[in-house]
Amino acid sequence: MNFQDVIKFHGHACPGVAIGYRVAVLALKELGLRAKDEELVAIVENNSCAVDAVQLICGCTFGKGNLIFKDYGKHVYTFIKRPEPEAVRIAVSWEPPAEDPETAAIWKRYAAGDRTPEVTAVVQDRKARKMKAILEASEAELFEVRRIMVAMPETAKIYPSINCAKCGENVMEPKTRKVGGQFLCIPCSGEEA
Ligand SMILES: [Zn+2]
Ligand SMILES: [Zn+2]
Repeated sequence: MNFQDVIKFHGHACPGVAIGYRVAVLALKELGLRAKDEELVAIVENNSCAVDAVQLICGCTFGKGNLIFKDYGKHVYTFIKRPEPEAVRIAVSWEPPAEDPETAAIWKRYAAGDRTPEVTAVVQDRKARKMKAILEASEAELFEVRRIMVAMPETAKIYPSINCAKCGENVMEPKTRKVGGQFLCIPCSGEEA
């Protein structure tokens, strides 16, 4: 799988997915395998475009349960190999090259909602240049890489289903709430998930 496959999966080409691609390729190189099942776990500390590349390239996906999302807003990705407690922590340390004042001013207009063709063209060009820089940078320029020891995350569990007493829909047992002696799903219990 290559960067073109990632673009196809993600839906568009962008700097974020380029970063994710570089992270994913490095993770596979460091740990030497792609996850068919759950032998590789990724802990991602953001939910940006980059995570889509990690899912596709590393096989660590939301559906398989070997993609763990921590909402820290950080460009940090930790990969853990099972069953050995071998792990690598990849922190993005890359700084984009300084912007010329003209482009910076146009970017500000775009951020404020300006979608005129001249502004959009400059923004697209800026994105394309940033993406190219990411794809061409060395790993040392992009990342801070560390080998770490971590506790092994549990493998995905299969739980019995319970019928919600209010809506009648099935719900995974640990996600039920006991309200007035009845088991309810979270939406019916009124509790914010
Ligand atoms: Zn994107
Ligand atoms: Zn319900």
